[in-house]
Amino acid sequence: MADTQPKKTKPETIKSIGEFGFIEKIRESLKTKNSSVISGIGDDAAIFKPASGHELVFTTDMLVEGRHFDFKLITPWQLGAKTMAVNISDCAAMGAKPTVAVVSIGLPKDYPMSDVEAFYEGMKGMGEAFGAQIVGGDTVGSDNFVVNIALIGEVESGKALRRNGAKAGDALLVTGNLGDSSAGLHALQHPSAKNKDITAALIKRHLTPTPRFTVGRALSTKRLATAAIDISDGLSSEIHHLCDESKLGAEIHEEALPISSSLKAYCEAEGLNPLDFVLSGGEDYELLFTVPLTHISQVIQKVPAETGTPLKSIGRMVPAAKGITLITRKGERIPLKAKGFDHFAKK
Ligand code: ADP
Ligand code: MG
Repeated sequence: MADTQPKKTKPETIKSIGEFGFIEKIRESLKTKNSSVISGIGDDAAIFKPASGHELVFTTDMLVEGRHFDFKLITPWQLGAKTMAVNISDCAAMGAKPTVAVVSIGLPKDYPMSDVEAFYEGMKGMGEAFGAQIVGGDTVGSDNFVVNIALIGEVESGKALRRNGAKAGDALLVTGNLGDSSAGLHALQHPSAKNKDITAALIKRHLTPTPRFTVGRALSTKRLATAAIDISDGLSSEIHHLCDESKLGAEIHEEALPISSSLKAYCEAEGLNPLDFVLSGGEDYELLFTVPLTHISQVIQKVPAETGTPLKSIGRMVPAAKGITLITRKGERIPLKAKGFDHFAKK
């Protein structure tokens, strides 16, 4: 008689299938027909043929369990998608197209394979949505889950968006809304929050950010921006980086800062100040960029229509001696300190 009882098997782990079994599984799921990938997983290194007339951009981002994320708040699939998205965001801020990525991963030996596979599905899906292919990586045992993606992008020669190209008088623009992601994290950490519809929208922005790829490309290919940076650590911190590199100051108008209705409603309900999230919250992954006044009407009229991404002019670049200033709704001028998240800052 056939055994009809479902067998109780232990979940597969990296320990049970071994490093090479693990790599085989990943290799199978990451097969590609992309003709610029001459060789992917399986050799000592991957081979990639860049498009002619392009320059390569390199970026890398590492996320450590307990430091950057908590598996109580994010699923493996979401973490995979987010890790890839933050790297693609760096490419977008350079105006480049993502191409190939290598993924280094540190895994506890009893970590379930099904979770690793979901993590890879998340990375792969986000990568493919923007043209990035995983072509290799490295695997080590580790007490905590650690992941690092190194991503290569390509951009038409001479057209990369740098942080150092802004000129005094340029308008300062930002994509989308600011502060939603950090408010989403706040909502996850304070689950008593009342309005679930509002918190859901903010939490989504925190867990599954969208890189502003099409905006970055529109700005670089048409040479519409003089400088750009992605907002990973909060506006106040990123504006300092842009100003330092371009050797300029800036004026930002509080009333022009793009704040979503969800963030407003959340802050009202919780007795919080949206400006704290907008200026000092992190992980928005919006683009902050500068546009010469000669191009501003073209950018404001055409880029949102072409990319589906709203843009807002929030201020302008000024000579370095004027510093970096926030002009409040009341017309007060306050020096804007870089309060964004700094991993090595004293808490
Ligand atoms: P080596 O010892 O030469 O570095 P590995 O055994 O680490 O080679 O890797 C074998 C192949 O599997 C390589 O092509 C490598 O890029 C790929 N690889 C290893 N770990 C991963 C991973 N976590 N994700 C994707 N590819 C991986
Ligand atoms: Mg190796």
